[in-house]
Amino acid sequence: MNRRQKRELNELLGDRVRWDVSMAEYSTFRAGGRAEALADVDTVECLQALVRWLRTNDVAWRIIGRGSNILVSEQGFAGVIVRLQDALAGVARGHEPDCTGPGPVTVRAGGGCSMARLLAWCTAHSLSGLEFLAGIPGSVGGGVRMNAGAWGQAMGERLQALQVLDGEGGLRRLEAAELRFSYRRLELDGQDPDRMIIVTAWFGLERGRQAEIVARCRGYLARRREKQPAGVGSAGSFFKNPAGDYAGRLIEAAGLKGLTRGDAMVSPRHANFIVNTGRATADDIAALMVEVQERVYRDSGIRLEPEVCIF
Ligand SMILES: Cc1cc2nc3c(=O)[nH]c(=O)nc-3n(C[C@H](O)[C@H](O)[C@H](O)COP(=O)(O)OP(=O)(O)OC[C@H]3O[C@@H](n4cnc5c(N)ncnc54)[C@H](O)[C@@H]3O)c2cc1C
Repeated sequence: MNRRQKRELNELLGDRVRWDVSMAEYSTFRAGGRAEALADVDTVECLQALVRWLRTNDVAWRIIGRGSNILVSEQGFAGVIVRLQDALAGVARGHEPDCTGPGPVTVRAGGGCSMARLLAWCTAHSLSGLEFLAGIPGSVGGGVRMNAGAWGQAMGERLQALQVLDGEGGLRRLEAAELRFSYRRLELDGQDPDRMIIVTAWFGLERGRQAEIVARCRGYLARRREKQPAGVGSAGSFFKNPAGDYAGRLIEAAGLKGLTRGDAMVSPRHANFIVNTGRATADDIAALMVEVQERVYRDSGIRLEPEVCIF
């Protein structure tokens, strides 16, 4: 960005914009290059004004949530990384007419709301259906975009509607019938998902017994603890499972558990986790990713695709 653009962005966002920010602090990998600017946005109006300004000025941008599925390359991101905060990170009962009837109860969550907060709120209100999210460290926006899921369930199945902001700054409500979810992916006809910000999501949940909801969440968390590495940086499963197989099985079969590049390592505990054991750089992680892809391809003929969003 040039000096005029920096001045205008400072005027637009005040102290909600920070410059030359290490993205290692905003990624669960604890690694990543620097972003030219990081903008925390707390109202729809501010978000619209920002997106319109970015478009007019042809400045690159990306939206992030909790950074639990991203890797910002070592050379950094020339542009603005946007996060949703405060009024765009809340959770409340939806205002749909059926929310007091016998059907599903609608819960409305802001794109910036953490999964943990959403799940805690649902549990406190004895609403069941999202327990499978227990232990997934993302936000509602990131989770919907990635169709995050576990234990045979995924977020898309619970969605009733979305409010999205497009790359021109226009707000739209999309009903469930207009959304196409597939494995770790939300698709919108004719719309680049990277140009679309999930502002609000409405979920349809069932009334349940609080003690049973808590027990299910604890059960899922315990299963996670058994299988996943703890106390190290990671972005969860690094590669998508190819059709009919598991990335972790293929990586293990190729003998790659424990393989390292700098401080980046293929977890000996779960082969589909690339972990940061200390001071791994984004370059270390990217080099390890390529090495795993090549060696799995040589071993099995299958080309693994990253699930992690790299920018
Ligand atoms: C320990 C660990 C365990 C995990 N386990 C699971 C698991 O079981 N299942 C699973 O599916 N995932 C899992 N993940 C991955 C990750 O938590 C999910 O993909 C999560 O949904 C990402 O949310 P986020 O807010 O962190 O998104 P980010 O990592 O910040 O972003 C991911 C993508 O979503 C986009 N995005 C973020 N916010 C928005 C928004 N408001 N609007 C539009 N796009 C947006 C970003 O541009 C990016 O493309 C795990 C990660 C970790 C670290």
